Amino acid sequence: MLFNREKPVDDQTLDRLAERAADLMAGAKRIVVFTGAGVSTESGIPDFRSPGGIWDRFDPDDFTYQKFISEAETRRKQWQLLWKDRLTETVQPNPAHHAIAELHRLHKLDCVITQNVDSLHLTAGVPEDKVFELHGSMRRVTCLQCGRQYPMAEIKKRLHAGEDVPDCEACHGILKPDIVLFGEMLPDRVLAEATSRAEKCDLFVVVGSSLVVYPAALLPGYAVDSGARLIIINLSETPMDGRANIIIRAKAGEAMTRIIQKLAEKMSG
Ligand code: NAD
Repeated sequence: MLFNREKPVDDQTLDRLAERAADLMAGAKRIVVFTGAGVSTESGIPDFRSPGGIWDRFDPDDFTYQKFISEAETRRKQWQLLWKDRLTETVQPNPAHHAIAELHRLHKLDCVITQNVDSLHLTAGVPEDKVFELHGSMRRVTCLQCGRQYPMAEIKKRLHAGEDVPDCEACHGILKPDIVLFGEMLPDRVLAEATSRAEKCDLFVVVGSSLVVYPAALLPGYAVDSGARLIIINLSETPMDGRANIIIRAKAGEAMTRIIQKLAEKMSG
């Protein structure tokens, strides 16, 4: 599914909406920020569903867990076409990640729940115990046979030295990035904790997600059903728009920076 982007709001509207969002944040006791690929596009990482995104260039069928474990050719395609040059160490957090980290420094952040595998919230300075990576992380690679773990940087070196499909040095088992592929279960503990945080928060802030990938996309509904307010910052529509208190159609970096600046002013004034 490809969503058309709507035109971002003008500066005056953004300012007005940012003011309202900052008011909600100032009054909230437990804020959960929920992020998707859209929070990282300004770091140069394409999302999935925007035009020019990953689904414009790759077939989703090549990303199922079942095909990954059963077909050497699928593993080769993923390593060579996708993982080898993706999320290099030069990718850096953008103003949206920094603004979310600032929310933590302002003692306003309960946690970040992210669908992203780029770990940029951690790089931006949100502590590990406050980041729930629902779909895993590209920083690590695990052997499916013996469980040995490798840093992704080490495996990328091997790929760039000419290996086609890397395998485990210890047992020659299949190596897989620590990310959740289609058809694979989400890590139970992470999902359970994220669900509980969503249900307990009083403000749930979606940043850069189309909210169509399940079960992650259920979380905003759990929060609202439990009484939380909902802010959505996203360039295109989402299935939860009708339940949001504030919708901001703007770039995540610009919107979050402005909201957090206003929040900081309110807290210091
Ligand atoms: P998605 O591609 O379905 O949706 C991204 C949304 O962000 C779109 O609605 C788009 O309009 C919006 N968007 C794009 N750039 C934006 C910006 N600068 N500011 C505000 N909004 C912006 O992504 P999703 O909802 O996260 O779900 C798809 C899956 O993509 C997830 O499972 C995730 O694991 C995976 N993914 C992760 C990365 C990453 O780690 N950076 C990148 C691509 C995909």
